[in-house]
Amino acid sequence: MSKTEANDDTESTDADPPMEDDSKSKNADGGANNEKPEPTSKSTDNDTIDFDPTSKTEGEDPSRWEGDEPIENFNGYTDWEYNWESTPDKRFEDIGGYESVKERLEKKVIKPHKDEKGLYDHFNIDEIDGVLFHGPPGTGKTLFARALANELNRTFIEVGQADLTHNHINKSPQMIKNLFMEAELQRAVVLIDEADTLLTKRGTDNSHAEDSKITNTFLTWLTKENTTYIVILTTNFKENMDKAALRNGRIDAEFEIGLPNLEARKKILKVKLLNVPHSFTDDHIRYFAKNLKGKTGADIESLINQAKFIAVEREGRKLIVEDVQQAYVEMED
Ligand code: ATP
Repeated sequence: MSKTEANDDTESTDADPPMEDDSKSKNADGGANNEKPEPTSKSTDNDTIDFDPTSKTEGEDPSRWEGDEPIENFNGYTDWEYNWESTPDKRFEDIGGYESVKERLEKKVIKPHKDEKGLYDHFNIDEIDGVLFHGPPGTGKTLFARALANELNRTFIEVGQADLTHNHINKSPQMIKNLFMEAELQRAVVLIDEADTLLTKRGTDNSHAEDSKITNTFLTWLTKENTTYIVILTTNFKENMDKAALRNGRIDAEFEIGLPNLEARKKILKVKLLNVPHSFTDDHIRYFAKNLKGKTGADIESLINQAKFIAVEREGRKLIVEDVQQAYVEMED
């Protein structure tokens, strides 16, 4: 069932005092664990194999493969058309805030895929293989996609319009086909960034025949059943996407990633200050977070990065409030 997941961590209201303070010292807490499992990889020659995307990788007919190696020895094969990444090293604990999104991803997407007790299978519950993250720029949609691929221990790729479109007529659908064929063989998570540019509305006055072909090709690959790959779409403009892309069986879980609220901003600050020498108490963090109303995770990240430069320039050994204040002023200029 396709459903928008509202985000408890997004902005509601808080006061917005000017940014000025000074204070005492104490460290922020936390710690991320960035394990990096090995990728799974198998080889294919996209021009020659007769690919059936409904079949699983295991037990496939080796005659579909070129080369001398038996199919079970394709780990380490590198001749892919696309640049597949090993499992991303981002984890949910690297994402500040958005706890309700994390919980729902865990419940709806991760647990059914892992199915550690076989109960989802027992009740014939389908896994979710299509996820949409939508919301303003810089709120962490890509970060969520990477962390999800990590939780699922999958090979990963991030692609956008530039990777999948070509001037030659009919070349784009072939590129998309090749992408999903490779994804199938790798049990990959495919992140389609700015999905609205590739899944544009068809049949409008402004729609081009080539764009519609691309949308149609995507819809075909999103609709296939019993595939091994998982598709994640991100967009800042969900309203520009072809509605058919978001129907049941294609995208089965939607998550709105809005601007972070006060609690989320505090948590993002703490994540960004991990392993950074600083002198901030929880009160400082709260004070910064209150002043960052309306800012995104990306803004907070660049604020702390800029504050670090300022600390280096004054040859300080720890970040102090004034560093963050100066960085804030520069950010607002
Ligand atoms: P866009 O829509 O512009 O593609 P996005 O929503 O995909 O943006 P990301 O690319 O995931 O945003 O995030 C931008 C930067 O901000 C990244 O470096 C990311 O690590 C950081 N960031 C954003 N939100 C958070 C968060 N909640 N916690 C930690 N870091 C965050």
